[in-house]
Amino acid sequence: MQSTTEPTFRQSVDMMFTRAVSLMDLSPGLEEKIRVCNSTYTVRFGVKLRGSIHTFTGYRSVHSEHMEPVKGGIRYAMSVNQDEVEALAALMSYKCALVEAPFGGSKGGLRINPSEWEEDELERITRRFAFELIKRDLIHPSQNVPAPDMGTGEREMAWIADQFNRMNTTEIDARACVTGKPLSAHGIAGRVEATGRGVQYALQEFFRHPEDVAKSSLTGGLSGKRVIVQGLGNVGYHAAKFLGEEDDCKIVGVIERDGAIHDPNGLPIERVRQHMMEHGGVRGFPGAKYIADGASLLEGDCDILIPAAFEAAINLSNARRIQAALIIEAANGPVTAGADEILRKKGCVIIPDMYANAGGVTVSYFEWVKNLSHIRFGRMQRRQEEARNRLLIEELERLTGNEVSRSFAEKYTQGADELTLVRSGLEDTMRGAYQSMAEVWRSRPEAGDLRTAAYLVSIGRIAGAYRSLGL
Ligand code: GLU
Repeated sequence: MQSTTEPTFRQSVDMMFTRAVSLMDLSPGLEEKIRVCNSTYTVRFGVKLRGSIHTFTGYRSVHSEHMEPVKGGIRYAMSVNQDEVEALAALMSYKCALVEAPFGGSKGGLRINPSEWEEDELERITRRFAFELIKRDLIHPSQNVPAPDMGTGEREMAWIADQFNRMNTTEIDARACVTGKPLSAHGIAGRVEATGRGVQYALQEFFRHPEDVAKSSLTGGLSGKRVIVQGLGNVGYHAAKFLGEEDDCKIVGVIERDGAIHDPNGLPIERVRQHMMEHGGVRGFPGAKYIADGASLLEGDCDILIPAAFEAAINLSNARRIQAALIIEAANGPVTAGADEILRKKGCVIIPDMYANAGGVTVSYFEWVKNLSHIRFGRMQRRQEEARNRLLIEELERLTGNEVSRSFAEKYTQGADELTLVRSGLEDTMRGAYQSMAEVWRSRPEAGDLRTAAYLVSIGRIAGAYRSLGL
């Protein structure tokens, strides 16, 4: 149970922000301008379903417009509220700045339990919500571009894109009004796996730096590390799957809504997911120990803990008992400000949300650019490759005096498909962002932890953008 003395999610984000700002030389006016949410729109709309009118409450919050469009997902959950969307919108601003996606921060939410409604009902509700947001330019290719989040996915994004299209029939860039669309509706390869893939790249990058690993009590590389993951939704599933199948990690525990399962020899994630789809939860997964009080496994023995479910999962009530040496925040805000302090003092290293789960918005950026350029992602790159090949051939022929074949040069700059390009662009982005964050971590001991270092980098960039706008 989360303690009642915890700050709200929004306050928690602001406390972390303030901690970083105290180490910066920002004017109080600019600090305030960056911290506050610019606006939050609340809408209550009715939809006639099953013979009666149901009223739904939705939000779209815009945190910072230092760059436009503003960007961030739309969440469907009963727990959605104004405090939460504002906290999430603020995190989007910091996240985008850290990975240099040229967006401001926004977030939306609808108070709904999606599992209570049939698909056609959800479509009507989504289109109605989208209609309200489109009318106010809170969905627009150059102003505000939503994406999937908890409880939404490709299907909802396709409905939103189609709704925008119907309301803006002459808008040439209409398809860029939302990202995370299905591939068949102008989406991009690799967007569904992107956030989980980003978590994997973040861990790979962390373990490439022994001096950083040494700040936790871990040693060696990523291979063989024991991992517990909370939440086998889109993000947790992909992160655990890639780490288990490609990095030789042992996924020793999975925490889900109906409890947790544990196996010190490692769980086959694909089969666990299959089991969940068939049985609605992890209970009864063959060969693993079932723990009815799932959250207690957050405190289990492991090297890496991946909270990939909801905010405040690690809070004042359990932070002291967490055993993991490394936490990577795949969810947004899974560690409260109070828990963060306890864990920091214990020497636990936390790879913060604004970096760890930035893979989603990074690939959203690629999708948005693809939609705006009206050209298949990769086609321009292929042109550049051809030009590079020609130069390479000329150079090799000059050096060796021999004729060089075109296929030889192509081996060096192979034409890549969209998925390969997306993954390599994402990997570059995650590696680059890690460098900028870790450099501050290493060079400014007063920053203390990776989260503060990440805030220092992103607030510095947002401040720079505001200054160049004349503020
Ligand atoms: N909802 C995701 C996040 O929290 C993705 C946002 C986006 O792609 O715009 O980062």
